[in-house]
Amino acid sequence: MIQCETTLKKERTYDMSYERIELPRERIEAQEAIARRVAARFQAEGKQPLALVDTYGCQQNESDSERIRGYLAEMGCGFTDDEFAADIIVINTCAVREHAEQRILGNVGALNHTKKAKPGQLIALCGCMVQQPHMAERIKKSYPIVRLVFGPHELWRFPELMEQALTGKKRVFAVDASDGTVTEGEPRSRDGQVKAWLSIMYGCNNFCTYCVVPYVRGRERSRRPEEIVSEARRLVEAGYKDITLLGQNVNSYGKDLDREMDFADLLRQISEIPGRFVLRFMTSHPKDATEKLFRTMAECEKCAHHIHLPVQSGSDRILKAMNRGYTAKSYLEKVALARSYMPDLCLTTDIIVGFPGETEADFDDTLRLVETVGYDSMFTFIYSPRVGTPAAKLPDGVTRAEKQVRFDRLLDAANRISGEKHAAFVGRTLEVLVDGENRDESYPLTSRTGTGRLVHLRGDRETIGSFVHAKITGSTTWALFGETVQEEA
Ligand code: SAH
Ligand code: SF4
Repeated sequence: MIQCETTLKKERTYDMSYERIELPRERIEAQEAIARRVAARFQAEGKQPLALVDTYGCQQNESDSERIRGYLAEMGCGFTDDEFAADIIVINTCAVREHAEQRILGNVGALNHTKKAKPGQLIALCGCMVQQPHMAERIKKSYPIVRLVFGPHELWRFPELMEQALTGKKRVFAVDASDGTVTEGEPRSRDGQVKAWLSIMYGCNNFCTYCVVPYVRGRERSRRPEEIVSEARRLVEAGYKDITLLGQNVNSYGKDLDREMDFADLLRQISEIPGRFVLRFMTSHPKDATEKLFRTMAECEKCAHHIHLPVQSGSDRILKAMNRGYTAKSYLEKVALARSYMPDLCLTTDIIVGFPGETEADFDDTLRLVETVGYDSMFTFIYSPRVGTPAAKLPDGVTRAEKQVRFDRLLDAANRISGEKHAAFVGRTLEVLVDGENRDESYPLTSRTGTGRLVHLRGDRETIGSFVHAKITGSTTWALFGETVQEEA
């Protein structure tokens, strides 16, 4: 049993042998009954409230917001993007970096205007930021316009919390310290008709020393494979063509289940569902990415040849301080192994610059690794201290200005490498899935290649949701540009 002491939840001890708790379906059905009761109440008052759900952060949050919209729809709400028109505003927050928190708090503060103009407006905050006790406290004290606050573990009982907030006298704060549960059968109002998120597991057990996620999202827990496969089948039958499996570390999938089943097995089962679709996933922790996973990806036709494999740093000293569980050498070996199975592999990563104590030599190791791997694209971040995490207590002699210089150097390298990779596609014809519309009149469509590269496309709007061939005519650091053609790739 690994234990991790933290001040975040009042020196709570985290028990990695935590047992997976799946809530009985009746608990969700009871929530749906409450949602109908709320809808009846609105109807009796002769109004159809408009709701706005604003989402910050990762794909898991996007997916959670679809659950919130699903419940709101059951409560009889319509939807709007206009905060002055909204009767209910739900802000789904992120805690991964301070910058996100500042933006969220700034935007909540700005809602004072809308609340003044519309005093009956109900403002709710949910998600990772408010699961941190110091943040819940701050909202309680300094943001009285916020009437309802709930953490990720409480989302399944959103109707009950809404009813309390609508009918009770007191503000509602539901940010308990549980490790979380697995829920099935909640309503969901999906954002599009081509691409779909599919959560396969929740939480994280890795406790990377800089990261707040394990504290706010609880311990790793997997959904049962039969639930996941039947949800995937329903998505394919409903016409979705691009399914992304979500988890903080999908490579841990199945460890808490009552049977021998790993992530590669799950990928194979989903890819056997009849119909044409692309199967993606994120995120993969490098320490747990196996040869079996790479082989399965190569063998299963529907699996995109794309891995997001966050390296975080190229320095062994910093990787150790981050508690990442691999070295630069073992990471590079995994990359080589993955490429040996999938020579066309699209590889993306996350990197943190300026972890406490990072020296110029450590940073050079990161730059060297980036050049060696040649990532297709990179998400780069300046280290942000998070309350209660071990790294936040480490001494840090590097100034913000020095970190910024390193960050800019890394970004230059990242942009140059992706630009070169993209330029190499010009002149080729690729199969792409047309997945949406663009504001750009010259390229009215967006599409993705099998490996997940963005292609701005000239073509017919009626092709949205289909696979077409695109001749690549141009490229930038971020994307490819092309036109729909008839011939085979
Ligand atoms: N579970 C995923 C992603 C978690 S958060 C994974 O392990 O890959 C997404 C990214 O945010 C991380 O990969 C990391 O690069 C970055 N990040 C997390 N905590 C951070 C912090 N305190 N400061 C800066 N970046 C951070
Ligand atoms: Fe955070 Fe590390 Fe877990 Fe990713 S694997 S969510 S970076 S603790």
